[in-house]
Amino acid sequence: MARRVVDVLVPVALNQTYSYRVPDDADLKPGDVVCVPLGPREVTAVVWAENDKPDPRLHNRLKDVSEKLDVPPLKAELRSFVDWVANYTLSARGMVLRMALRMGEHLGPERVRMGVRLIGDQPQRMTPARRRLIDALSDGLLHGKSDVAKEAGISASVIDGLVDEGTLSTEPMPREIAAPAPDPSFAAPDLSADQKIAADAMTTTAAKGEFHVALLDGVTGSGKTEVYFEAVAEIVRRGKQVLILMPEIALTGQFLDRFAARFGVKPIEWHSELTPRTRARNWTAVSEGIAQVVVGARSALFLPYSNLGLIVVDEEHDQAYKQEDGAHYHARDMAVVRGSIARIPVVLCSATPSVESEVNARKGRYQRVVLPSRFGGQHMPQIEAIDLRHEGPPKGKFISPRLADEIRTAVERKEQALLFLNRRGYAPLTLCRACGHRFSCTICDAWLVDHRFRKRLVCNHCSFSMPRPHACPQCAAEDSLVAIGPGVERLQEEAAALFPNARTMVLSSDLIASIEAMRSELNEIAEGRVDIIIGTQLVAKGHNFPRLNLVGVVDADLGLGNGDPRAAERTFQLLNQVIGRAGREKGFGVGYLQTHQPEHPVMKALVAADREAFYASEIEARERAMYPPFGRLASLVISAGDRPSAEGFARKLASAAPFDERVQVLGPAEAPLAVIKGRYRFRILVKSARNFDLSEYLRDWIAAGPKTKGNIRLEIDVDPQSFL
Ligand code: ADP
Ligand code: ZN
Repeated sequence: MARRVVDVLVPVALNQTYSYRVPDDADLKPGDVVCVPLGPREVTAVVWAENDKPDPRLHNRLKDVSEKLDVPPLKAELRSFVDWVANYTLSARGMVLRMALRMGEHLGPERVRMGVRLIGDQPQRMTPARRRLIDALSDGLLHGKSDVAKEAGISASVIDGLVDEGTLSTEPMPREIAAPAPDPSFAAPDLSADQKIAADAMTTTAAKGEFHVALLDGVTGSGKTEVYFEAVAEIVRRGKQVLILMPEIALTGQFLDRFAARFGVKPIEWHSELTPRTRARNWTAVSEGIAQVVVGARSALFLPYSNLGLIVVDEEHDQAYKQEDGAHYHARDMAVVRGSIARIPVVLCSATPSVESEVNARKGRYQRVVLPSRFGGQHMPQIEAIDLRHEGPPKGKFISPRLADEIRTAVERKEQALLFLNRRGYAPLTLCRACGHRFSCTICDAWLVDHRFRKRLVCNHCSFSMPRPHACPQCAAEDSLVAIGPGVERLQEEAAALFPNARTMVLSSDLIASIEAMRSELNEIAEGRVDIIIGTQLVAKGHNFPRLNLVGVVDADLGLGNGDPRAAERTFQLLNQVIGRAGREKGFGVGYLQTHQPEHPVMKALVAADREAFYASEIEARERAMYPPFGRLASLVISAGDRPSAEGFARKLASAAPFDERVQVLGPAEAPLAVIKGRYRFRILVKSARNFDLSEYLRDWIAAGPKTKGNIRLEIDVDPQSFL
């Protein structure tokens, strides 16, 4: 009798499943998480389908499933989602599955932590160390052994000694609860009339438990978070799970506290910096339905929720939702897909929706829920342009006299000011005054960024860096190097000279040691221990700085001129968001845009606070050019260790594109970032009509086209966000 066979998907870079025999006594169903031999290794994998007609000739060569793991099976809903994402993004299914299986390695049962308690009389012999330990335990409660050793500043042997003498006892610590339940009625807010209407709309649709997308569209500070918390509360009351996606999980310290203030406990977190132990614990809590609310980065979309009832995508326009390595997927779009497969509501939140979501709302595909004004009647910041052609800063400086005056006044009034510049380091370029030599990366087509805090010249695209030399490596001239252009570190120098009594702080992702360090710096700002914040886009997102009233954008044009079809949209969103940090509490915030082109539609729309004008012109331009969401795009990036191989392959690939009148194949062209990490890069851009299955087209093309070999690599990006 031939044994049953199942097809198993393994989390490696493969699309196909492998067949394994089912051991006689095993009861295996699709979705079960199993261990299977794969080459020399054992891997954790998932039964994907029953195989009714295994090839009899192969049957004896098949290996057995080794073991079924004691975790809940992956639901059909998640398996369909994995298939869907892989199919749409042209990623290997195994790689997509891998995101769902990031439960940490087999860690075995949780280690039981031991605790100590004071139970008996004082010991015969007293030492200072024993004294400190007994003092620390004087409350008679059970303390973690290592915690109390640390607290008393003693070694574990001191504890063991006192246990032997009967002064202390050791007992196992009770297990930590993985995910205490949020209380939906813990601290419900008093909503304003507008907020009430919006919250009712949200809870009504959330309660229906059907697939539905709402765009929660409200200016910065209007209380979007408070409002979607009502939908979260509704779902929690119904005993279902909620996923809240955040673009930048490192920045959510404040959010976790806010959640705790509303629901009594913090939610479960999911992101790449969790320890393996926490990862395993959270994964299990999600899969068993114990964790009711998860706050996570995009990868949290792939968790095995037992009973997901709502997905919220906060700051839905944020480009950090696009994953650019491994499987290229957009977490906002995939959240909508997951919602439709699971038949649950999805809430997208933004003060400046993506053009895609805006169009969907205009066409009625998404329900628009509006919060028209700031909570508490606060005004939106007043925005002015500073024309750098007429009132620019002195040579070699970057803060214009008008902006400097305004900052001075703000600081004198004990308010905070934020100088925003989306550039890390001290200067984006260093050159030799004597010979003109420019410092560039040895393996990338990029200038080296001068980082003074770290005292190095650094490449932003790879890990290359070098100390800033005293002499020019080309002409040997000494002290001839000059920094060109500003980064946040240089701005701090300028601010310190202009405002010698102000306390400044630079916030930039490269200067942050850890999420914890970041959260504590943000707290310092929120508590008002800083006068002038100088930051990159890290500061634009989601924080509430009560005393911040002035935002100066040092180079408002920075993101505009780079040939990216989304440049205008991004600049509008980013500047709106960063200026939206101002005046959230007091309500008379101001924003200044230093720009060379005050007549640009983005600047005009910001200054006039005319969001509609911006969307109208942007939507029209997209429609005319057949750019998303009116057409579809994919990019193919071909790279190789040498330029001719990359170019040659790109040409062959382009000429193999199947003809279809609904598709345009543009290129190949050398990528704007022509070399990264020693790899030469060419791009092909594929454009199609909106109602066209571009993924299918690409799959056929790649299958029939030339095959990558040697060190030639092809990366496919459907719905690209980056054009570099
Ligand atoms: P958004 O997410 O739209 O930027 P938030 O939800 O962060 O707005 O709200 C802005 C500020 O107003 C926060 O400090 C928030 O606590 C406060 N707030 C909003 N709505 C209320 C409310 N109904 N009651 C009390 N505080 C509120
Ligand atoms: Zn480099």
